[in-house]
Amino acid sequence: MNVPHVALRDVSKIFTRKPDFAERLAIRLGLPKPPVLRAVDGVSLEVNHGEALGLVGESGCGKSTLGRIVAGVHGKSGGEFRFEGKEEAGWTAEDARRARLDIQMIFQDPMSSLNPRKRIADIIGEAPVVHGMVARADRETAVAELMQEVGLDPGYARRFPHQFSGGQRQRIGIARALAVQPKFLVCDEAVAALDVSIQAQVLNLFMDLRERRGLTYLFISHDLGVIEHLTDRVAIMYLGRIVEVGPTPEIFRKPAHPYTQALLDEAPRVGRGRRVYVPLKGELPSPLAPPPGCRFHTRCPHVMPVCKTTAPDLKPVAPGRIAACHLNDTTEQEE
Ligand code: SF4
Repeated sequence: MNVPHVALRDVSKIFTRKPDFAERLAIRLGLPKPPVLRAVDGVSLEVNHGEALGLVGESGCGKSTLGRIVAGVHGKSGGEFRFEGKEEAGWTAEDARRARLDIQMIFQDPMSSLNPRKRIADIIGEAPVVHGMVARADRETAVAELMQEVGLDPGYARRFPHQFSGGQRQRIGIARALAVQPKFLVCDEAVAALDVSIQAQVLNLFMDLRERRGLTYLFISHDLGVIEHLTDRVAIMYLGRIVEVGPTPEIFRKPAHPYTQALLDEAPRVGRGRRVYVPLKGELPSPLAPPPGCRFHTRCPHVMPVCKTTAPDLKPVAPGRIAACHLNDTTEQEE
């Protein structure tokens, strides 16, 4: 049996803040505590070796938090995280080091993720030397090779981040991630801040790297065009929960969840002929107070009484596909 590269089981992330003086007083008087933010709530997901999994949802749905948990930037509040079959709780110090180097993250805003006071040679070359992957004497050559691999002129290695364009800075971020020889990249809206023509070039770079280095990707984006172009499978997230997972072409052809359908209806996509633009109804509810039952029921055009009280489970709807919607139970019963 193939062991997934990364597997999450029932993972959650809760953000709390310390109550202020008035809130502490209120708690003492028996009033309710301030609400906690469940950014990720009971997510189970697997990413297989060499695959590109897309993670899609509106802003505030928890997808970036989930990506940061995978990349080790945030700790989880609950659930299991397995890397190459081994649960985090049982990791040795060496397992933890390997997982943290193997999984690297590419951020949306390259400028804020690069130290403006460091030269590119230091930004790219520091980590592999610190981790003993490259001898200090070989650092310059290693940096030059990485710059070339991501399409940058190695002659610019002594420059600072502000001397590059947005697209070039994103390439520097990619070279920095590749410097520690990762096998898994978490790309969080990695092309969202770039001009459309530059976006295409950076997306092509991601595809080339996948081919050349056999990388696994978790590609987080709100842009369905990017996801359709780049990924093998896609997971749809709504208010902290996964609502649908399946192969990308099938999800785009025939979504099994009304939220996925709404996202597709709303997105302008190339090569699909004339489409009627249907905006998604209503605002994303606050994750501080998610609706009971199905979290999408306040916006769903197919809402039924059961949706307001009972949260649907993720269930198989076709081979390799799961979705969480009571409509699929109804269809099953009717068949
Ligand atoms: Fe809509 Fe009900 Fe399905 Fe939720 S469970 S997506 S409210 S039909």
